[in-house]
Amino acid sequence: MNNNTLLEATKKFGTPLYVYNSEKIRAQYTRLTKAFKQVKKLQLNYAVKALSNISVLKYINKLGAGIDTVSVQEVLLGIKAGYVPEKIIYTPNGVSIEEIKEVSKMGVKINIDNLNTLEQFGNIHPEIPVCIRINPHVMAGGNSKISVGHIDSKFGISIHQIPLLLRIVENTNIRVNGIHMHTGSDILDTEVFIHATEILFQVAKQFRFLEFIDFGSGFKVPYHKGDNETNIEELGIKLSDRFNRFCEEYEKDLTLIFEPGKFLVSDAGSFLCSVNSIKQTTSTIFAQVDTGFNHFLRPMMYGSNHQIENISNPYGSERFYSVVGYICETDTFATNKKISKISEGDILNIKNAGAYCFSMASNYNSRYRPAEVFYIDNKLTLIRKREVFDDLLKNQILIDF
Ligand SMILES: *Cc1c(COP(=O)(O)O)cnc(C)c1O
Repeated sequence: MNNNTLLEATKKFGTPLYVYNSEKIRAQYTRLTKAFKQVKKLQLNYAVKALSNISVLKYINKLGAGIDTVSVQEVLLGIKAGYVPEKIIYTPNGVSIEEIKEVSKMGVKINIDNLNTLEQFGNIHPEIPVCIRINPHVMAGGNSKISVGHIDSKFGISIHQIPLLLRIVENTNIRVNGIHMHTGSDILDTEVFIHATEILFQVAKQFRFLEFIDFGSGFKVPYHKGDNETNIEELGIKLSDRFNRFCEEYEKDLTLIFEPGKFLVSDAGSFLCSVNSIKQTTSTIFAQVDTGFNHFLRPMMYGSNHQIENISNPYGSERFYSVVGYICETDTFATNKKISKISEGDILNIKNAGAYCFSMASNYNSRYRPAEVFYIDNKLTLIRKREVFDDLLKNQILIDF
């Protein structure tokens, strides 16, 4: 997707606009598959919460992936997009037992991360196998907001509670078909990750009926020049070898599962916005764009630093800009960033906008959520309409006084 294609998209569909490049998703899928080619049974389950547009889900299904879901609604979206239940894993945290029962009836894999829930579910449905989410307490995350492995994290069953876990499994007679971990986003060091997997193997050994081991995700993608990324190829070599040895000891070819979200879709996404105005103060030049944290929350929520390009004037002389939104609250996308000269009406491309961007968008300030476009087979195809005034009123009830 070059700048002309992106500019064409804004002419056709307006701004703010999300555009996703299918080829990038495919390339990342292939890259991860290749890195683990030594493993006999590999399954990649795309984490739906990163970007849940149904056409994107359908595309990823065609690539051969399954999905990782965290709500009954994501399971329903996945089924609608064509995923068979066997290729769906449901990894809830803190949901009601009713929801877990509902999803288990759909035939999807159930991942349980709470001893209490395991006991309740096992007493009602000992015939339905479950996967167990373990918390190895390894801090793999690059950001405390997205790290879920620490000791006081709400996620997973602590490795310190394994004896209790084994007792519940025995008492309920439930069959454990998988062991899972997800240490959180942004793995910087493959050794740290391997250390966590070692803990998982120790746990896995204690279960006799396993079919798979799920290593979650947390692959770090670079957000700007010089940024770190997880070395997937190195991880592939190290973990494949260790996994294959484990399967030999276990005397069964288990399936190795990953659940990449960000890794598959982040770099595929561009968020395009128009510059409403330039505001020069005594210290700063602000470029004010026609969107805000209502549509693009990551910089405010996680302090993430996305690359921003002025695609209307890519070769202009560079100046330092603070790119800010139109929300009546601080909504800074970038502070004093070098960008080629910006004028009113220019189109800015905020990069790496595929994951956790549209899926976190809201109507705050009563703005419409943006349209989404899929670039597939060299064509720009609308996959979500821009909202209109009626969408804001839908479900609201105007009462009589
Ligand atoms: C969010 C999530 C993922 C995906 O994480 P990324 O960092 O986007 O790859 C995978 N597994 C589970 C259980 C998750 O909650």
